[in-house]
Formats: sequence, structure tokens, C-alpha cells
Amino acid sequence: MFSRAIRLLSIRGIDVRLDLTLVVLAALVVWTFTVRFAPEHGTLPAATMGLVGMVLFLGSILAHELAHALEATHRGIEVESITLLIFGGVTQMHAHSTRPRDEFAVAAVGPFVSLLCGAIFGLIGAYADGWAYGAETARVMGLLALLNVLLAVFNLVPGAPLDGGRVLRAGLWALLGDRSRAIRIAARCGQALGLAIVGYGVVLAVRSPALIAAVWFLAIGSFLFWAAGSEHRMSRLDDLYTATSVREVIALGRDHPATSFPLVPASAAEQDAASGGALPRVEIDADLHTLVEAFQHDHARVLLTDQGQPVGVVEERYVARAVALLRRGARPTPATVDTATAGDDEGSR
Ligand SMILES: [Zn+2]
Repeated sequence: MFSRAIRLLSIRGIDVRLDLTLVVLAALVVWTFTVRFAPEHGTLPAATMGLVGMVLFLGSILAHELAHALEATHRGIEVESITLLIFGGVTQMHAHSTRPRDEFAVAAVGPFVSLLCGAIFGLIGAYADGWAYGAETARVMGLLALLNVLLAVFNLVPGAPLDGGRVLRAGLWALLGDRSRAIRIAARCGQALGLAIVGYGVVLAVRSPALIAAVWFLAIGSFLFWAAGSEHRMSRLDDLYTATSVREVIALGRDHPATSFPLVPASAAEQDAASGGALPRVEIDADLHTLVEAFQHDHARVLLTDQGQPVGVVEERYVARAVALLRRGARPTPATVDTATAGDDEGSR
């Protein structure tokens, strides 16, 4: 998703990446600070204050994302990376929470840390008076405090994929006992919210000369609408993965011969590789999630087993084709599912 991102550093095994669109955010923050401070402090000092403010603002976005990431790690959820981009930050995790309260804690800690940053910047600003460059420090800190509070408040708005949407989702999940439904309701709230923000942007563009603000509302609103829609689609896909067994995926290949034969007999060497841990093994009655996860960490082939006995090797590119078929609504015929592994033993000589 963020292929243009460059890796900056690694904190406790979590990659911190900067997306190229972050340049736009950085420039906007420097510009906002400079314009605001220039009348009182002069252009060059104002630009310096803008640069310092920008670095500290990006630092507080990173603190917000790190809070999500470390809380997730603490709760046993593996975190892959943090990416800072034009709309703030995104924390990518390998798996999702298994309990509503984990989901709640991981989501809520981000805005909490933003409020904390706001309070710290506010306190520094309040005590900066007697220091060298005290007036400048107080102004920068005051604006940073405001931005962090705004960041917390915006993130707490109840529509996925915002943190408030995830808090709502955790609540609905606990209430309904159904994670998928909770995800979809929160995603629909996010879409409604995105549309409302776009609508406000249109009103701004038509009724007032605040064109730059209008463009930002339009951009943020449509991004939110798109991201919430993609959460909704991801949730459907997630359900499909849970409802489909590996056996059915193999059967689908038999129903669609054009996709090439999915299961090839495992060679003795591959069976050795699997027992040595070099080749992942997946039970044929596991769900599609398990199979897709097995291909992580650069594995192109997986050994399928039936009650521990090897039945063959399946390749990642075949599974990708089968998933594409499933997404288009294709389902294996029950008769093929029953015979999915029959006859493979003769090939494993
Ligand atoms: Zn957050």
C-alpha cells in the first residue's frame, strides 16, 4: 500500500517509515507556522520556528502511532510497521485483536497520547517566559498544544478507520458479540463521516473564499470515505477467508482447470524441508487465513497435510488465482470438495 515509503528507523523491531507524501504535510505545517508568526517575529525567525514546530509536530504524530504499536505488542498483537504520511500516521499489524477490550485499548491509547503531548507542549509554553527565546518558544509550544488536541479530537470521531471508529467498533463488538458486523457498522459510519466532510468542503468552496481550507476538507473527506469503504470490503474478504477451507480452495482449482493444477505431489526433499521448518505445513481442513499467512516471510510453496500426512505442495500464485475466483463469487462444487485430495498419494512416489 505504501510502496513509496522509505525506512527511517526501527523501534523494538517495528519499522518506522516515511511516505513521500509526508513532504506535503511537512511543508504545510512549516508554511502555517511561518505565516502565523511572521508579522510579530519577522520572516526568518518565523521560518525557523516553523521548522522546529514541524519536527516536533511530526514527532508527536510518531508518538501517537508508537502508542498504538506498543500497546498492540504488549497485548500480543504483532506489529509490522508505522508509516507517516500526508494524513498523519498508519500502524500496520499482522493480525487483529481477538478480544474487544484489546481493540479498545489499542485504539484509545493513540488519542490519549496526543492529548498528553498537547498538555506537555502547553505546560512548556506556559513556563517558557523567562528562558532565552522564551516568547518564540511559548508561541510554538502553544500552537503545537492546539494541533495535538485537534489531532486527538479529530481521531476520536466515531467512524472507522479513525481511532474513534475503532473504539466504536470495540464497543459494538462487545455489545453484539460479532466482530464482522461491528467492523461494517463502524466502516459505514466512517463513510457517512467522509461524505459529511466532503459536503462541508463543497459548502466552503461555494460560499466563502476559503479555497485552501475547502481543498483540505475535500481531500480529507474523500480519503476517509475511500478508507472506510476499503475497511468494509476487507471485512467481507475476511469473512470469506474464515468461511473457506483449504480443501475447498483446492477443489476450486479442479472445477476451473484453466487455473492450472493446484496441488503437486510433494517430493521427498520438500517433505524433509517441511519437517525441518524450512517449508511451512498447513492442514487441509484449516481455513484460508491459515494458508495465506503461511505464505508470509517469502515462502512461495506450502506443504499441505491431512491429519499430519503430506498430501502435496501448493504454490502461492495458484492460491492468489483461487482467491481472485472466490472474490468474483466462484464456489467449489460439493462433490469436488469431497474428492479434493483423493488420488494424490499415487503421485508422491
Ligand atoms: Zn491513531
